[in-house]
Amino acid sequence: MKFRTLPQILFGLALTLSTWQASAQTQAPDTLPEAIRVTLLGTGNPVPRIMRAGNSTLVEAGKQKLVFDFGRNASTRLWQLGIPLGRVDAFFLTHFHSDHTIGFPDLWLTGWLQPAYGRRAAPLELHGPTGTVEFSTGLQQAFASDIATRQKDEGTPLDGVKINAHDDAPGLVYAKDGVKVFAFNNDHGINIKPSFGYRIEYGGRTVVISGDTRYNAEVVKQSTHADILVHCVSITSDAQMKANPGYRAIAAHLSSPDDVARVLNAAHPKLAVFSHIGLNGDVTTGDIVQQVGEKYDGNLVVGEDLMRFEISTRPEHNGVRMWQVENR
Ligand SMILES: [Zn+2]
Ligand SMILES: [Zn+2]
Repeated sequence: MKFRTLPQILFGLALTLSTWQASAQTQAPDTLPEAIRVTLLGTGNPVPRIMRAGNSTLVEAGKQKLVFDFGRNASTRLWQLGIPLGRVDAFFLTHFHSDHTIGFPDLWLTGWLQPAYGRRAAPLELHGPTGTVEFSTGLQQAFASDIATRQKDEGTPLDGVKINAHDDAPGLVYAKDGVKVFAFNNDHGINIKPSFGYRIEYGGRTVVISGDTRYNAEVVKQSTHADILVHCVSITSDAQMKANPGYRAIAAHLSSPDDVARVLNAAHPKLAVFSHIGLNGDVTTGDIVQQVGEKYDGNLVVGEDLMRFEISTRPEHNGVRMWQVENR
């Protein structure tokens, strides 16, 4: 597998935003054995783009692989990394918007198949807010024919297609071998509840995933001094806003560059990474960088699919390194 890499081992994180953006790319490092690693599987939203898959984030901590949200093509991105879909230890859903769930049947059922890209042999662990059990039950009904057929025809063992679904309340939702995952309520608008963000802790390091949210004090609280905050951001041109009033509702449910700058100035994460990037109308990621940069001067990266971030859990290594896996 080919990698393109940002060469800096970013100990100390003294780089400015513009340096992050301009860094040259070379060979990828070997991954560290004791680390927490974040990979952006999908940085997009509902727009069907090949380069920005639907929203999904892989967090690897120790030997565990956890996937948060399951937008379109999450399975493809995992296999681009050489990770069998059946290798994922647990799945975590933030909310029930389809751009976060539509890839789940693929991860679940393709992960159950027995070629190298699948190979799940034990039940799939699925966490999410209230409604997750019902979501899982409905899917098992919808795909009952496929499951029965493959079991009868191919002898695929049934254990690997079972789903252990959990309706979680905010708080600690997962704890295994030193990895802890906490769910918290964010604010995705009054009609879109429940909606979670997640905080992952391992080896003294903290990663926070905002989920879909407008400015929210709970996100600030959960991500204060976090090592990495993965945050949504959305920008809509004035012309698009006028032409399509539906964008007003969307803009009201997600974070504008101003909202994100407010969160970052309050929380001071060591590194902010934008994902779930909404570009509505004649706007670019450059506009996001410019608008956030006018109000926030900390480290941030506009995410691309298959960008990876790694933090050693050894206390003497106090930085983040990042590289980009070639998206092909
Ligand atoms: Zn949403
Ligand atoms: Zn979304």
